[in-house]
Amino acid sequence: MERFDTVVVGAGMAGVTCARMLADAGRRVVVLEARDRVGGRIHTDRAAGFPVDLGASWIHGIEHSPLWELVQALGIPTREFTVGSFQAGGRPMEHFDGSGRPMDAAASERWISDVEAVDAALVEQIDASAAGDSYLVATERALDASGLDAERIDEIREFFRHRVEEQCGAWIGDLDAHGLDEDGIDGDEVIFPRGYDELPHRISSGLDLRTAHVVNAVTRRGDGWTVRTVDSEFTAADVVVTVPLGVLKSGAISFEPPLPAAAAGAIERLGMGVFNKIFVQFPERFWRADTYVIRALGEAGERWHSWYDVSSISGIPTLLTFAAGPLGRHLQTRPDAEVVADSVRALRALYGDVVGEPIASWVTRWGDDPFSAGSYSHLPIGASHHDHDALAGPFEGGLHFAGEATWGAEPATVGAAYRSGHRAAERILGRSVDLAEFAMQAAERTADRAPRS
Ligand SMILES: Cc1cc2nc3c(=O)[nH]c(=O)nc-3n(C[C@H](O)[C@H](O)[C@H](O)COP(=O)(O)OP(=O)(O)OC[C@H]3O[C@@H](n4cnc5c(N)ncnc54)[C@H](O)[C@@H]3O)c2cc1C
Repeated sequence: MERFDTVVVGAGMAGVTCARMLADAGRRVVVLEARDRVGGRIHTDRAAGFPVDLGASWIHGIEHSPLWELVQALGIPTREFTVGSFQAGGRPMEHFDGSGRPMDAAASERWISDVEAVDAALVEQIDASAAGDSYLVATERALDASGLDAERIDEIREFFRHRVEEQCGAWIGDLDAHGLDEDGIDGDEVIFPRGYDELPHRISSGLDLRTAHVVNAVTRRGDGWTVRTVDSEFTAADVVVTVPLGVLKSGAISFEPPLPAAAAGAIERLGMGVFNKIFVQFPERFWRADTYVIRALGEAGERWHSWYDVSSISGIPTLLTFAAGPLGRHLQTRPDAEVVADSVRALRALYGDVVGEPIASWVTRWGDDPFSAGSYSHLPIGASHHDHDALAGPFEGGLHFAGEATWGAEPATVGAAYRSGHRAAERILGRSVDLAEFAMQAAERTADRAPRS
C-alpha cells in the first residue's frame, strides 16, 4: 500500500490541473488513470501523420477565459474557427433550404435574422417557464408567437433541436427549459492545429501518474481514504474524483460510506449526453473556399445537418460532422462504414455527384466507452445548475469531485474541467492559487517540450 497526501482519480484536464497545483505546493500526490493515455475526453489521434481531435476541438470563446490565458502562456498555437458552438451565423456558411436547394446570400441572411428574432423571444419564454417545462415546450411557445410561415418555423424548429443535440448530447424534449442558460460564447473560438492533447500533456509533465489503473473503490479509513484498483491500494488524507458523470452514474466505483445525499442526488438528476464526431476526407474539395460550415435546414437536414471544414489541419479536404442525442446513440450500434456512407449520401443530396468517395474517415463512440460513458453533462428536466456545483463537495473527511460536470457556470467544456480542478486544489490547500502564476510555471517547466506533431 502506498501513502500520499492526495489521490487524484482520472487524468483528464480536471485531474491533471488539480494534481499539478497540489504538487507545485509541495504535496505528495498520485494520479490514477484507467486508460493508457492522459487527456480523457481530450484525445488526439496522430496515426495518420496529422492530428485528429476525437474529443474536444474548440475553446468556445477566448475572452475572459482562464483556459485561453493558459494556452497563451504555454505558447500553444491555435487557429480561429468561430462557429464551433452551433451559431446560426457569424462566419461564411453555405446554407441549403428544406428541399436541399442552395440558398443565396439574401435567403441566408433572412434565415439568420429569423433565428435571432425567435431566439430573443425564446429568452423571454425561458424566463417565464415553470418548473418541469422542457426546452422543447419553451421553443414551441416562442415559435408559436413568431408569426412566421410554416416552412420557416420548421427550419428554426429543426435548428433548435440540433442545437440541443450538439451542445448537450440530448433530445430537446428531455432538456430542462434552463438547460442552455450557461451556453454563452465570449469572443472568438479557436481550434488546435497541433492537437488539443498537448495541453493536458504539458500540464501533467513530471507528475506521479499511473496509467492503466482502473479505480473501483474509494473507502474512508480512519482519518483518510483508501483508493483501490483490482491489484493495488493507495491511501491519502484527501481524494479528488474526476471521472466523468457517466462513470459515476454507472456505479463502476463504489464509495464507502455511501455518498452523501447532496452528491448522490446530483449524480442522479444531472444527465450525460452523447455527442460523436465523424471526420471524412475527400479526394477533392466540393464546397466553397471560404466556407466554415455547410448547413442543411428543415427536412433536408433532419438527420445530417452541419459539416465543418477542418481541412486546414491536415491540408486534405476534410469535413467534420456530428451525430448527437438519439441519433448519436443509435449510430453507435452501427458499423463505421455504414455511418460514413449515410453522412456522405446526405452530402450528395445537396451537392450531387461532385462528392467523391471518401479517402479516410474517423468515427467516435464516446457513449460506449466505459471510461467516459457519454460525452458531456447536461440538465434534464428538473435538474438545476446548482446540482453541478453541489457535486463538487467537499464532503466529510476530504472527499472532493472535480470535472466538467461539477462546474455550473460553463459545464460540458474543457474550461469547466480546468476551473473545477483549480477549485479542488484551492480547497485542499486552504488558500488561493494564482492562475497566471500557475500558467507561467507550467510554461517554464515544459519550455523544452518539442511539438508532438
Ligand atoms: C466528442 C467530444 C467533443 C467535445 N468538444 C469540446 C470542445 O470542442 N470544446 C470543449 O470545451 N469541450 C468539448 N468537449 C467536452 C470536453 O472534452 C470535456 O468537458 C473535458 O475534456 C472533460 O475533462 P474532465 O477532466 O472533466 O474529464 P475527462 O477528460 O473525461 O477525464 C476523466 C478521466 O477519468 C478517467 N477514468 C474514468 N474512469 C476511471 C476509473 N474507474 N479509474 C481511473 N480513471 C478513470 C478517464 O479515462 C479520464 O481520463 C467535447 C467532448 C467530446 C466527447
